[in-house]
Amino acid sequence: MRIITDGNISPRTILLDSPSRLVLDLIGAELKSKLQEKTFTVGDEQIRVAQFDTSIVRIVFTGPKSHQREVRISDNERQLLVLGEGSKQKQVVENFNKLLAIKISKTDAKETTYQIDAEKKLNYKFIKLHDPERLVIDFVDTKLTDAFGSNLVSETGHVSGLRYGLATLGRPVTRMVIDLKSKNYTEEFKESPTGTQLFIRILGAGQGISSTNPEADKDPNAVPGENKVNGSKVVIDPGHGGYDHGAIYGGHNEKDINLAVASKVEALLKEAGVAAFMTRAEDRFISLAERVEISNNIDPDIFVSLHSNAVVSNPKMAGLQTYFFSDGGYKLAQFTHKQMVDDVGMPDGKIRKANFWVCKYSKSPAVLIEMGFMTNSEEREKLASDRYQADLAKAITKGIIKYLEENS
Ligand SMILES: [Zn+2]
Repeated sequence: MRIITDGNISPRTILLDSPSRLVLDLIGAELKSKLQEKTFTVGDEQIRVAQFDTSIVRIVFTGPKSHQREVRISDNERQLLVLGEGSKQKQVVENFNKLLAIKISKTDAKETTYQIDAEKKLNYKFIKLHDPERLVIDFVDTKLTDAFGSNLVSETGHVSGLRYGLATLGRPVTRMVIDLKSKNYTEEFKESPTGTQLFIRILGAGQGISSTNPEADKDPNAVPGENKVNGSKVVIDPGHGGYDHGAIYGGHNEKDINLAVASKVEALLKEAGVAAFMTRAEDRFISLAERVEISNNIDPDIFVSLHSNAVVSNPKMAGLQTYFFSDGGYKLAQFTHKQMVDDVGMPDGKIRKANFWVCKYSKSPAVLIEMGFMTNSEEREKLASDRYQADLAKAITKGIIKYLEENS
């Protein structure tokens, strides 16, 4: 079920038992008059839409207990997708993982190391955030046991505190936050061979073996000023990831196409001497807010988000579209969009203004590129082919470099 609104959606989900139902509250929303309050049935699921009070629209999905439902928010935050039983995009989470214990396995002047034990192989992602300096680790499809963390001393030489709790939207995610005492610390994640144990090492200043300093990526032989793009910073954002597949058509996942092209752009930019960063380099979920936060912390010259389009109602729809929000984004779009249209032989779907989250909240000039329509079978085959992906990556990189040469 797709729910479309004219403003940003802030959903609240509640799962209830007997009968099994998902309650979805859209806060600050009002039903449009033509969409009257009603109840309808899809398969063995009953859906009831009602104005709960003056500012909350409540949608209740009632069905058999075995129904797994997942709620996703679209990139522009104006569409909600509720995936349920019978949907191809459904992912059933039958057996949650459990976090059993956490302890400090080592703490001295040089480092603090936490050891986390789980029932099964851990599936996690982490990001480092600033002001205040902290590490945020999300354990996907994972719950806590009662004994977890009961004897943990939360402060060490490097850590001022450690918090955790269940952060969930449709599926259980345990979020752990480690507050660091200095921004000069580095972190290292190591798993046991079975993946059920995770060691998080916080290394004091100068103790890290891997540098996260972008300056380290620079070619030491490069002559400053010789090439204007040298040392420029670009963040590439492959849309979707992990359980958020994006569009799925003809056996292809949007998240994979986006990542494939993004990785190629990253490699080409690095070859050209640009410090390129990815918001995700593998198949994992990150929220829109995290993408923006990652980018704003890097403080790049530009931000480029890559997506593949889909319009179910019109499978003929085709072409390249580039979205921007700010004037800076518009300027960037003119370079990247023109280069793509010139080089890859796809219809010109135009440069468009939209308040996509990543464009709106990125501090740097930002664009969101829709690289073609997955609902158009011809374009879908192209998007999935290595050759077209490489052509697109080349054109996007060329556009970025031309922009950087003229604007940095
Ligand atoms: Zn997308």
